[in-house]
Amino acid sequence: MKTIELRSDTFTQPTQAMLNAMFAAKVGDDVFGEDFSVNELEAHVAEMFGMEAAVFCPSGTMTNQIAINVHTRPGDEVICEQGAHVYFYEGGGIGRLSGCQARTIAGDRGRITAEQIATVINPDDVHRPGTRLVCLENTCNRGGGSTYSMQQMKAIRILCDEQQLSLHLDGARIFNAIVANNESPRDYGKIFHSISVCLNKGLGAPVGSVLLGTSDFVKQARRTRKVLGGGMRQAGYLAAAGLYALKNHVERLEEDHRKAQKLAEALGNATWVKTVLPVETNIVIFEVAGEMSAAHWVEALRQKGIKTAATSASTIRMVTHLNFTDESLETTLNAIGQL
Ligand SMILES: *Cc1c(COP(=O)(O)O)cnc(C)c1O
Repeated sequence: MKTIELRSDTFTQPTQAMLNAMFAAKVGDDVFGEDFSVNELEAHVAEMFGMEAAVFCPSGTMTNQIAINVHTRPGDEVICEQGAHVYFYEGGGIGRLSGCQARTIAGDRGRITAEQIATVINPDDVHRPGTRLVCLENTCNRGGGSTYSMQQMKAIRILCDEQQLSLHLDGARIFNAIVANNESPRDYGKIFHSISVCLNKGLGAPVGSVLLGTSDFVKQARRTRKVLGGGMRQAGYLAAAGLYALKNHVERLEEDHRKAQKLAEALGNATWVKTVLPVETNIVIFEVAGEMSAAHWVEALRQKGIKTAATSASTIRMVTHLNFTDESLETTLNAIGQL
């Protein structure tokens, strides 16, 4: 039985064309700034977002944590949503690597508002940590792939300007948001001081993320990347995969979103499912009905060759991606109906 992978969009396998692009990459020593393909990728992404500079890193955790490190000083406070990847899934990096603490907000499916942020900015008082940075996530992973509107993000930037705060975007799945809402990367470049973009999620590259910002910010980010052990040598083989993904795998994200909608519809009609979070992009999160736990249903699906992930005792996540074909969709829809 062929297994169908829905646990995450990080399970994608490089296509033959992507492997060909990697095989043909012109490389050098990137720590010396001499890897042709890495330089090309960084310039390409910076240009796409209309930002001054970019730096290629091994992971989205590293790009996020570097951004936090460069924007803050030890003792500062970082504002984010309570399920934000930077806080929830990065091993306590905010405290461990940057000596900062997080001030979390309960958002609406992962999204926080300018009004909510305004209420947790500390006054200039010796007792209080200095609020320095706001981190947003788009799409919101634990929010079920929800997206911000441009208007919401712009309102947050205006607040950050008034309060002299930096604004970072964890854009692990930013292209899912861009495609779903018909936006342009340049819109984002105007709003955020720094942006982290993952190439290893729905875009289908095997490894890598890019951090964007001003030239000065990126210069400091390169120093932090080296300290964290993220300075890679002939990394151009990986950068070439990322560049290929950006040129060939963005528009097709729409297909992943369409398939996620189909899954949500079928789940909505299934007797063993209680509720499904609204689906905006490629993530479907749902709550199971009845006595059985999420783990029980994950196992039941696994026996039909479908891998999903429990995100709590009663919730399950499915993520569509470029290896989840129309045939995989058919099989999964049938299985959902049969359970
Ligand atoms: C996957 C992800 C990241 C980065 O993860 P890595 O595995 O370190 O590349 C960051 N933020 C969000 C929201 C993610 O989903």
